[in-house]
Formats: sequence, structure tokens, C-alpha cells
Amino acid sequence: MQTKEQKNAYCREYNRKKRIDPAFRAKRNKASLCCYYKNPDKYRALSSAGHKRRKLEVLTHYCGETPYCQCPSGLCDVVDLEFLTIDHINNNGAEHRKLVGGMNFYRWLQKNNYPEGFRVLCYNCNCGRFRNKGICPHEKHPKAQAEITETLKVL
Ligand SMILES: [Zn+2]
Ligand SMILES: [Zn+2]
Repeated sequence: MQTKEQKNAYCREYNRKKRIDPAFRAKRNKASLCCYYKNPDKYRALSSAGHKRRKLEVLTHYCGETPYCQCPSGLCDVVDLEFLTIDHINNNGAEHRKLVGGMNFYRWLQKNNYPEGFRVLCYNCNCGRFRNKGICPHEKHPKAQAEITETLKVL
């Protein structure tokens, strides 16, 4: 019978071998390259400075000079541009994606004169909302969460 210690050591060794295994690395690189070739425009757009500038323009349009997460609970204080994203307020993300097609979403918003029905949310609130029937988990327990935030401030 293996002890926990032995098991962990085995896992560590296994992962280490895998990391330095050229065959495994080649396979993984190939997988990410495939993604790139399937969608080169998207990847180029994502990595360009122009994309960042455009994103900032769109975010500031929807929430003012310093973009922040507009979670309705008021409990989220994410302001990092990298974490912020545009949220479809009425939850028709899938439908909307069809409409926009392959076009860059931020570009689409600009081209369409910043339509209503969008707001800025961080990825956390966005995903939380998606998994929680359209309500950010923050909103579910606003009071409990507020108390936690208060306690954390005191600590
Ligand atoms: Zn948030
Ligand atoms: Zn939230």
C-alpha cells in the first residue's frame, strides 16, 4: 500500500517527466497552433495593442473614465482591465454571438454606436452569473457578503 507521501512523490515525478518530454511538448504546441490557424484574426487581434486600446474605449464608454466591475451587488471592486469584460445584461450572449459572427466584439460595439443592454463586469461576476441563472453569486447573499467584506477590512 502506497502512503500519501509516496503518491505525491510519484505524481510530482510524473508531471516533471511530462514537462520535459519532447513528444508531449510537441503535441501540446501543435494543439495550440491548430487553434491559432483556425482563427488567426482573432488571435492577432487579441494580442495587438490596438485591441487593448479599443477595449479601453468601449469599457470607458459603458462605465466612465475608470472602468470597474459593475456587479449590481456593489460588492465587487475589480478594476483591472485584464479582468474586465462586456456583459450582456439580458443574457442573450449566445444569440448575440451569432449576430456578431466572427467579428471582434469590441469593434462590433463601436461600429454599432455602443448599443444599449451592455455593461462592464469582471470575468468572475460574468461567469458566476452564467452559472447561477443570470444572477451573480454576489447578489444572492448581498448582506452576508457585505459582512464578510467588512470583517476583512477590520482584519
Ligand atoms: Zn466583478
Ligand atoms: Zn458579482
